[in-house]
Amino acid sequence: MDWSIAGLPQGFRDIFLQKGVSKLEKEGFARSKDTLWGNLCFLLSVMKQNTPRTFRFLILDIPLKVLLPFIGIWMPNLVVRAVTEDGAVRQLLAAILLLGGVMVMFTALERYADGILEAEATVLQHVLHNMLLRKKISCDYANLEDKRISGRYEEADNYIFMQARFIAQAGRNLALFGSGIFGFLLYLSILRGLPLALLVLMAASTFVSLRFSNLGEKQRLKNRNYWGRGIRGLSYICGASSEAKLGKDIRLYHMAPWIEDRFTQMQRLFRREYMQMEKANFLSAVITAATGIAVELSAYFFLVVMVLDGRITVAQYVLYIGAVLGFSTWIRQVMEQMQKLWLLKGDVSCIREYLAMPDVEMPEGSVRQESGESSCSITFENVSYRYEGSEKDVLYDLSFHIEKGERVALVGMNGAGKTTCVKLLCGLLRPTRGKILINGVSAEKFSRTQYYNLFATVFQEINLFPASVSVNVTGVPKEEQDRERLEHALHMAGMDHWVASLPHGTDTLLVKEIDDQAVNLSGGEQQRLLLARALYKDAPILILDEPTAALDPISENNVYQKYDTLTKGNTSVFISHRLASTQFCDRILFMEDGRIVEEGTHETLLARGGKYSEVFETQSRYYRENPPDAKEAAFQ
Ligand code: ADP
Repeated sequence: MDWSIAGLPQGFRDIFLQKGVSKLEKEGFARSKDTLWGNLCFLLSVMKQNTPRTFRFLILDIPLKVLLPFIGIWMPNLVVRAVTEDGAVRQLLAAILLLGGVMVMFTALERYADGILEAEATVLQHVLHNMLLRKKISCDYANLEDKRISGRYEEADNYIFMQARFIAQAGRNLALFGSGIFGFLLYLSILRGLPLALLVLMAASTFVSLRFSNLGEKQRLKNRNYWGRGIRGLSYICGASSEAKLGKDIRLYHMAPWIEDRFTQMQRLFRREYMQMEKANFLSAVITAATGIAVELSAYFFLVVMVLDGRITVAQYVLYIGAVLGFSTWIRQVMEQMQKLWLLKGDVSCIREYLAMPDVEMPEGSVRQESGESSCSITFENVSYRYEGSEKDVLYDLSFHIEKGERVALVGMNGAGKTTCVKLLCGLLRPTRGKILINGVSAEKFSRTQYYNLFATVFQEINLFPASVSVNVTGVPKEEQDRERLEHALHMAGMDHWVASLPHGTDTLLVKEIDDQAVNLSGGEQQRLLLARALYKDAPILILDEPTAALDPISENNVYQKYDTLTKGNTSVFISHRLASTQFCDRILFMEDGRIVEEGTHETLLARGGKYSEVFETQSRYYRENPPDAKEAAFQ
């Protein structure tokens, strides 16, 4: 068996190899060119808005970090002058005492500012996480379906986790960077009286250090797509391996060696990348240290010659030598912080790119659904749809009209385009071409909230939230729930007895995997709870997208009949690939390959003897020969 990366299907190879990255980039999804400056401004504005104290202390910290060491090199100069110059001893001693007092005060203030920056450091990390999450839960639904966009979210999220320390420490890094620049300028102004050759040497050493300062980081940023995707690949495998659902397949299909192999290969690739980064960092460190030492030795030489020539006094020598050494420290500090900010540059760009992802779906419109209206008409006018990144349309020129209060079935084989049609109708996706009208008004004229209010939808995938029964049904916190409506919905869905038997009634938590105190529901109970949720919402349009796919045909038929009787008067769209389940509907639209190929009542479609009757006959024969187990009829 081929356990090498080459033996993997293309999708997996993309996760593990950089090759997939360049493919993505070619698809026009290249990274934006955010500058370091732009990213710093972004970070500072986030800080200013969310942690204003951090921002204030950051500004205070910058001069403190420079003035303290500056007093440190100024004091010896004063001491030497006090010892060597006649007459000024008293004033100089007073100045020394005053500077000592200022130093104590500045030190206390600096420690306090550092403490605040440290204490609020993780707040910034949480703020960035929240910004990403807010964007994720409010962005266009189409973005969630687009793997390239949702991949960017994961990447940004991973960076916040992986580089948590740097992002959390951004305040301190910025303070150190700012003080490095301030210190550099201050010391340069002191040293301006020195020979030009020494100043040129210092400038050259700064330039060389800058040029070679962040080789390792540059390499990491160059490969950040690769890192992000690699990490996603590893965490996907980790998560999948521990899930009970996949655990079965892993055991029965002997997937353990494959998983171990993926892990080992990724680790090997990571190790190689790390080694290269470390080599580059080592080179940076050696070059920076060598240039620093060259500057210091030259300074000693020049200054000693100047003292011997009588061009400067011993006190000035002490000040200059302190300033030259301090100058190297500031250069090193600027370099180090540049390196850390470079790291932030890539990571913050990731976050900014995701936050800046455009949302175009359903802008705030002006139309309001009239209150009290319990039903709506739906019109599709030449609607076509193509998924982002797909090469062909999945819906072609769909046109149909559903009257107010009509019950329509959308049926067809898997892949015919039924779910896509429903997502378009609910406003989760926007047609690539054509228009959808509700009561004759274009869907684009509604605001997103108004539009979503029109639909009570039950989809195939059952996703209960780790929250109480009542929150799952109503979607709002307890204080905002309409208790009477909640109890009525639970009663109508046949869940009232079940809820009464729970230890905390409607306050009982769901999803046991998250909370030990929670309860798990059987398939039938989940269906009923979703029915209660749809009933509680009481929207003018009801859509059921095969919520019963896991049930047998008899149970599915029962569910559909129940929904039908409970939502009388509402416009309803029932979706199924089992044609027998939707016979009761007023009209049936039969879909094939993204088109409506037949339309009519169950009887007229059977009488026509076309595609519908052919599929109906095949399915009926199958169920006659394989009658479903009566015990499976979970939803009676
Ligand atoms: P049905 O509900 O009738 O089974 P769907 O609407 O789910 O059909 O799918 C119609 C076609 O669209 C299928 O070929 C499917 O592979 C494709 N499709 C569905 N979702 C996506 C997506 N997110 N990206 C790309 N293609 C998709």
